Amino acid sequence: LTNRILLAMVAGIATGSVLNLLLNAPAVPDALQSSIDVYLVDGVFDVVGRIFVASLKLLVVPLVLVSLICGASSLGDSARMGPIAGKTLAFYLLTTAVAITLALCFASLISPGAGVEMPGAASFEPSEAPPLTDVLVDIFPSNPVQAMAEGKMLQIIVFALLFGYAISHAGEPGRRLASFFRDVDAAIMKMVEILMSLAPYGVYALLSKLFSNLGIAAILDLAAYVFTVIGVLLLHALGVYSLLLKGLTGLSPAMMMRKMRPIWAFAFSTASSGATLPITLRTVEKRMGVHNSVAGFTVPLGATINMDGTAIMQGVATVFIAQVYGVDLSMGDFITVILTATLASVGTAAVPGVGLITLALVLEQAGLPVEGIALIIGVDRLLDMVRTAVNVTGDATVAVIVGKSEKQFDQYVFEDPLADQDGA
Ligand code: ASP
Repeated sequence: LTNRILLAMVAGIATGSVLNLLLNAPAVPDALQSSIDVYLVDGVFDVVGRIFVASLKLLVVPLVLVSLICGASSLGDSARMGPIAGKTLAFYLLTTAVAITLALCFASLISPGAGVEMPGAASFEPSEAPPLTDVLVDIFPSNPVQAMAEGKMLQIIVFALLFGYAISHAGEPGRRLASFFRDVDAAIMKMVEILMSLAPYGVYALLSKLFSNLGIAAILDLAAYVFTVIGVLLLHALGVYSLLLKGLTGLSPAMMMRKMRPIWAFAFSTASSGATLPITLRTVEKRMGVHNSVAGFTVPLGATINMDGTAIMQGVATVFIAQVYGVDLSMGDFITVILTATLASVGTAAVPGVGLITLALVLEQAGLPVEGIALIIGVDRLLDMVRTAVNVTGDATVAVIVGKSEKQFDQYVFEDPLADQDGA
C-alpha cells in the first residue's frame, strides 16, 4: 500500500503539471482548456479530493477521544502522566526553537531577499491572529460536546485525559468502561485502515488538482526563497530529527523514515496535520510500536501545537521580508522572532495555510511590514505541503522518543519493517 500511495503521489504531480501546461499554453484551444478546468480539475479531482479529506477529518475527533481515553486509563499509575506531558511539551517547544533558529541562520547566510523588487502597492489584509492568552484559556473546555462538535483538539485532549484518569480510578465499573473503549478503539482503527486503502485515489486527485493550479512562474520568481525554505525543512526533517532519535534512543532513523513515508504522502497532499492525524496516530502505534498511553496523548497534542515546519517557513519569511524592505534585523529582533514564532506555531491551527496568518504576528513583533506577506503568498501552497510533512515528522519522532523513555514502547514492532504492513 505504501508503494501504491507513493506512486499515486508521483502520478498526481505529473498529471497536475501536464494539466498546468495545457491550461497555460496559448496554442491549446479555449474550449479544451475550459473543459479541462470544469470537468477534470474542478470536477472529478476536486470532488474526489474533497471527499477524501472529509473522510479523514471524520475520524479525527472519535479517534483522538477514544485513543486518549484508552491511553490515560491504561496508564493506571497516574504518576506517569505528569512526566509524559512534561517531556512531550519540552521536546515540542525545544525542537521548534531549534527549527526557527536554523531557519534564521540559513536565511541570513543565503539572503534570499537580496535583489527582489519591493512590491509597488502590495496589500495584504492580515486576518486577526489569535491573541496568545486566548490560546491558553481555550485549552479548558466548558462543554465537551461542543468541543467535539467544533473539533477543538486541545479541549478534547483535556477532557479525554480527565475521563481516562477517572476510569482508571473507578474500580470495577471503570474496568468495564475501559474494556468498552478498547473495543471502540479497535473498531475506529479498522476504519482508518479501510480509509488508507482508498488513499491512492484521494492522494492522486488532490495532487492533480493542486499542481494544475500551481503558479510555476511565481515559484521561479521566488526561487531563492522557496529553495531556502525547502532546504532548511529537509535539513530539519532528515538531520535534526535523526540525530535526536539516534542520540536519545539509539533507534534507527532509516527505519523511522521508512515508516514515515505513507504519513508524508498524506501530509503533503492534504497540507493539514489535522487531516493526517488518524494516519499518524495509527502508524505510530501499530507500525512504530509506541503504546497508546503515550501515542494517544503525544500525537494529537503534536498535531495541534508542534509545527516545526511552519516555524521554519516563518523564520525564512521574516528574514526575506526584512531584506526586501531593507530592514536590518538586530540580535534582539532574532530572539524576538524565535520566541514569537515558537508560540505562534503553538497557536497555528493544523489546517492548510494558517502558518501564513500567524506569520503576521511574528512580523508585527519584529517591527516588519505585514504587507510583506503579499510577496510570498503565491508560493505558499507548495511550501505548506512540504512544511506539513515536517510538522507531522516532528510529532511522530517525539512520540517515539517519549514512548521509549517511558518504556511504553515495543522495539520489536519498530524494528520489524513489515509490522502491520497491510495497514499502511
Ligand atoms: N498546514 C500546516 C499544518 O497543518 C499549518 C501551516 O503551516 O499552515 O500543519
